[in-house]
Amino acid sequence: AAVTAGAGRFAPSPSGDLHVGNLRTALLAWLFARSTGRRFLLRIEDLDRVRAGAEHRQLADLASLGLAWDSEVVHQSARLDRYLGAVEDLRGRGLVYECYCTRREILHAPSAPHAPQGAYPGTCRNLDEAERAQRRKVRPAALRLRADTGRFTVRDQLHGNYTGTVDDMVLLRNDGVPAYNLAVVVDDTAQGVDQVVRGDDLLSSAPRQAYLAGLLGHPAPRYAHVPLVLNSQGRRLAKRDGAVTLAELGHRGLDPAAVRDALLTSLGLPAGLPEAALPAFDPASLPRQPWIYHGELTGDGGAHAGARHGS
Ligand code: GLU
Repeated sequence: AAVTAGAGRFAPSPSGDLHVGNLRTALLAWLFARSTGRRFLLRIEDLDRVRAGAEHRQLADLASLGLAWDSEVVHQSARLDRYLGAVEDLRGRGLVYECYCTRREILHAPSAPHAPQGAYPGTCRNLDEAERAQRRKVRPAALRLRADTGRFTVRDQLHGNYTGTVDDMVLLRNDGVPAYNLAVVVDDTAQGVDQVVRGDDLLSSAPRQAYLAGLLGHPAPRYAHVPLVLNSQGRRLAKRDGAVTLAELGHRGLDPAAVRDALLTSLGLPAGLPEAALPAFDPASLPRQPWIYHGELTGDGGAHAGARHGS
């Protein structure tokens, strides 16, 4: 059989329209994948926070920027058996336990002496059967991973070695919904994704995910966590920050090609079809600063007076 190259992906949650920050990340994921001979896959992370019609518009917006993807779009909602299978695998190896804590209880629990900030304090780790039976009367259990380390190091193309917290992460929420970390790892490994390009707000999740992938018998992907797009206050771009979606920009007279050109220009790449930018694309020379978006793009051929690099 022919050796198949790996794959990169973009994995939006269909919770609303993509804004210029999401679109820029998608463009980067596409550029990273295509410039390294990888397939580019789309996965809809629709386990929760689904907004009617959002997926359809997200796919249309990506296509209108000139981004094409390989294979059928994968939906997490159709893959529940896979996530449950992974939990059973881990449970069979003694790596899963029931947790009855509320968010509030976790927040107020005394943390273990050397536990890193934000780590689950381990309250339910060693409950005996009587204690579990008692707590089960109050609320259903979430399932947590019994992790045997508190730190894990990943290699990131833009951030170098990054060491972050690994804790007894939730695998299955107490409403039965698979947790984000589990679903991402199960899907990336099942889809042959060996390159993960996404916003750097998710860098701190990478150690947990890479560690979990290892437990499930898979190597960690190559990571590239790319700078986010921020508003003029330096906060993560949001819908209220002006004209941020393709539809909103369209109302101001900017067609998708103009938005695509502005995004490419913001990355130091030539305007035009994304394919034409591939030869110039070099991860090493990408801007490392967040892109500050001042609420509008201007239509003058990709120059973007309203948006410039952060200092
Ligand atoms: N669905 C996640 C989001 O939209 C991204 C997950 C990932 O790229 O790993 O924030």
